[in-house]
Amino acid sequence: MKTLAGERDFSFSSKGVPFQPAAFKWVLSHPEISGLVVTFKTISQFDLYLTASGERFTAADERTLKQYAERYSEEYCRTGCNDCETACPAGVDIATTFRYDMYFRDYGMEKTAMESYAALRKKAENCGTCEDESCAGACPYGLSIKTLLQEAHESLSFSACGGRGRSDRNV
Ligand code: SF4
Ligand code: SF4
Repeated sequence: MKTLAGERDFSFSSKGVPFQPAAFKWVLSHPEISGLVVTFKTISQFDLYLTASGERFTAADERTLKQYAERYSEEYCRTGCNDCETACPAGVDIATTFRYDMYFRDYGMEKTAMESYAALRKKAENCGTCEDESCAGACPYGLSIKTLLQEAHESLSFSACGGRGRSDRNV
């Protein structure tokens, strides 16, 4: 699961080598992995994803993945990481907020994401005015936690609907 790191850009490719099959092939190149769990929502996804089936991971695939990482690494919260769990003295649930934000803007699950966020006990509503620097530098992957939390809160709050969603995104 989570083989596409949010799939921020469905059309991402490098020199004609698309991101998604490259990612699938990289995952499947590990002998301990026997299969992928991937959601298909559109025929175009189906057509693209299946090109990875039975194919080897290549140097061209690796180039595409590196370029995707260069572009999106500092925006993607690694699902299951939670290294920043104790970074916020106010107890904002950073990783869960980012997960719901991913549902909202990458998976096209806006309603589910907003309802889930509404049920969170510690939301990011005060990050915009927070002067505590505790969360700065807490992410080993370089995510600007405060800024990204503000954006997520804006998107996920019913009172400040951000409209950053995309309907054909996937896992
Ligand atoms: S440390 Fe970074 S990648 Fe890990 S959960 Fe926190 S924001 Fe996400
Ligand atoms: S900006 Fe302040 S309230 Fe928001 S996560 Fe960081 S420390 Fe917590």
